[in-house]
Amino acid sequence: MTAPFNFSAGPAMLPAEVMQQAQEEFRSWRNSGISVMEVSHRDPAFMQMAAQAEQDLRELMAIPANYQVLFMHGGGRGQFSAVPQNIAGPDDTVDYLNSGIWSDFAVREAGKYVARVNVVGGTEQTSRGKAIQSPASWKLSENPAYFHYCPNETVDGIALHQIPEGISAPLVADLSSNILSEPLDVSRFGIIYAGAQKNIGPSGFAIAIVRDDLLGRPQGNTSTIMDYSVQARERSMYNTPNTFAWYLSGLVFEWLKRKGGVEAMGAINREKAALLYDYIDSSDYYSNPVHPDFRSRMNVPFLLADDRQDGEFLQQAAKSGLVGLKGHRFVGGMRASIYNAMPLDGVKALLDFMKDFEKSNG
Ligand SMILES: *Cc1c(COP(=O)(O)O)cnc(C)c1O
Repeated sequence: MTAPFNFSAGPAMLPAEVMQQAQEEFRSWRNSGISVMEVSHRDPAFMQMAAQAEQDLRELMAIPANYQVLFMHGGGRGQFSAVPQNIAGPDDTVDYLNSGIWSDFAVREAGKYVARVNVVGGTEQTSRGKAIQSPASWKLSENPAYFHYCPNETVDGIALHQIPEGISAPLVADLSSNILSEPLDVSRFGIIYAGAQKNIGPSGFAIAIVRDDLLGRPQGNTSTIMDYSVQARERSMYNTPNTFAWYLSGLVFEWLKRKGGVEAMGAINREKAALLYDYIDSSDYYSNPVHPDFRSRMNVPFLLADDRQDGEFLQQAAKSGLVGLKGHRFVGGMRASIYNAMPLDGVKALLDFMKDFEKSNG
């Protein structure tokens, strides 16, 4: 059986080379005769591997020295509560851009920890599709503890490709579905975080990149495993970390370095997305609801002209070795997630299939 191309939004496909390597060393990590899952996190070999993974991520993202890189529990959503617990107090106001479903969940979680969550703006329908409201219209609050946004809305397929300008509060970004997909100026942010299962590794794991001056301000009752200061001091080993996820993420970072890093990824990701959007726009059978300036390069949602054919489309796609294309249950339709691990050939195979399906059903 040849492996299918897996377009799942997350957990998502991982690089074939990485999976191969993990399989080879599964029972005997570094010829030790035991699995990396069976090693103490305090073991010098594990500590060395963990430090190397951090070093590789720092190199890949050009993370400045005044930022901590934390390997956390609880995925993307864990950070929805970690952020307010760490850098806002119960009497504070915080600003959120609500550009889609994940932003909305983040807004609701933050509301548990602060006096007021001010939603500065969101999306709007335009003649060219769904767009994010222009920054000039955002209703910023006077003195927020931070400004939070999600540059790539995984479910909606909406992206903000420019980092917001002129925000004086620390910028906090949920990069769960687009971390490492292209170059990014980390120094513009106070905190960047990402659940691992889209562009990095196994689920349940998260990476938080936190500027030093934001450490040491937790609310009095911040849960200790979510406390950035504690995790920074303990080098993300306050309690037992998810050692296997850390290891596998490290293999993905090595793979990314071999592939030419985020510059190379950015170029190929643009090519993959353009192939899909160009075809969808040229077709009368498929459509994408998002304004061209705000389209995600990681998650490409699309609708068939007749949604009664959705089931047939998914079934035939699976037979052709294309899986994970069902859209999120909140929005329906289809979604092709094309993270770093998705090769150009996978996108080409999907395009060929879509063209054939349009010919026989359009
Ligand atoms: C998937 C996702 C999350 C949630 O991640 P979990 O690890 O399931 O908590 C949060 N934000 C974004 C943008 C996501 O894509």
